[in-house]
Amino acid sequence: MEAKIIDGNAIAKEVRTEWRLRAEYLTRLGVQPGLAVIIVGNNPASSIYVRNKAKACDETGIYSEIHEFLENASQNQVIERIQELNKDSKIHGILVQLPLPRHFEINKIIASIAVEKDADGFHLYNVGALVAGQTLFPPCTPSGVMKMLEKIGIVIEGRHAVVVGRSNIVGKPMALMLLEKSATVTICTSKTHNLMEHTVRADILVTAIGKPRIISADMVKSGATVIDVGINLMSDGKLTGDVDFNLVKKKAGYITPVPGGVGPMTITMLLCNTIKAAERFYAQISA
Ligand code: NDP
Repeated sequence: MEAKIIDGNAIAKEVRTEWRLRAEYLTRLGVQPGLAVIIVGNNPASSIYVRNKAKACDETGIYSEIHEFLENASQNQVIERIQELNKDSKIHGILVQLPLPRHFEINKIIASIAVEKDADGFHLYNVGALVAGQTLFPPCTPSGVMKMLEKIGIVIEGRHAVVVGRSNIVGKPMALMLLEKSATVTICTSKTHNLMEHTVRADILVTAIGKPRIISADMVKSGATVIDVGINLMSDGKLTGDVDFNLVKKKAGYITPVPGGVGPMTITMLLCNTIKAAERFYAQISA
């Protein structure tokens, strides 16, 4: 039997509808959630992502501002702007679009964002809090995957989850979130010997690799839930995931497509984090 296709667009729409109500409620109370996005340089993909984020904010009732800097802007200029935004009561979430030009130290930039406005969840405080199971703002892509699993009713507790990839923004936080829900977690990297030996044992397989169709059907257990985070731009201009979708869907129980799987959930969780930050702000000012 073919896998059920997990429709990221539909789940994202449902989640955004729930959160738009929360944003509208807060706005009626006098606090419209606000997000500031900082972009440095003219990376075309980053410009598209930033525009999409601003559009999604608009559709969800979130005020947004885009702060653009030239490629040769100094690190201090950007940090100064972040410090201003930290004090700006209209802004509840701040994110810096990555990648940054080479002369920037990402950790310094992220560290200058106030913890309570860290909409991307990349600040070291939030990363540490994630390890302790009590983060304020979970990183958006893995929390989007968790939300998807919740919405389709996948049991995580006691299951074997295999995460392929260990980046700070996807693989590592993904593994921590699955562990928090009591999965038995294996993390694989480019140095893993015999990747298939691990992936084939996964009840839940999450791939965040960035290599087109590297996960073939024989690497997947029958009936597994396969979540493909990878986005790979092919020479014909089309996007594809890390998973060989057409063949793996004949074996998996559930599978996400690319595009239309995890991608829409990532922006959705950014909106949720921003609204959550505004709710915390409202709770503080009205206490
Ligand atoms: P990184 O390049 O930072 O990390 C890739 C990871 O994959 C690394 O840990 C690397 O291992 C591992 N890896 C590479 N080759 C292999 C291999 N042959 N076998 C096993 N592991 C391997 O990427 P990101 O985590 O930032 O992104 C991963 C993918 O997800 C990309 O395609 C990206 O575009 C996509 N993405 C999608 C998002 C969405 O919203 N859908 C959001 C963010 C990212 P090692 O550490 O040993 O080098």
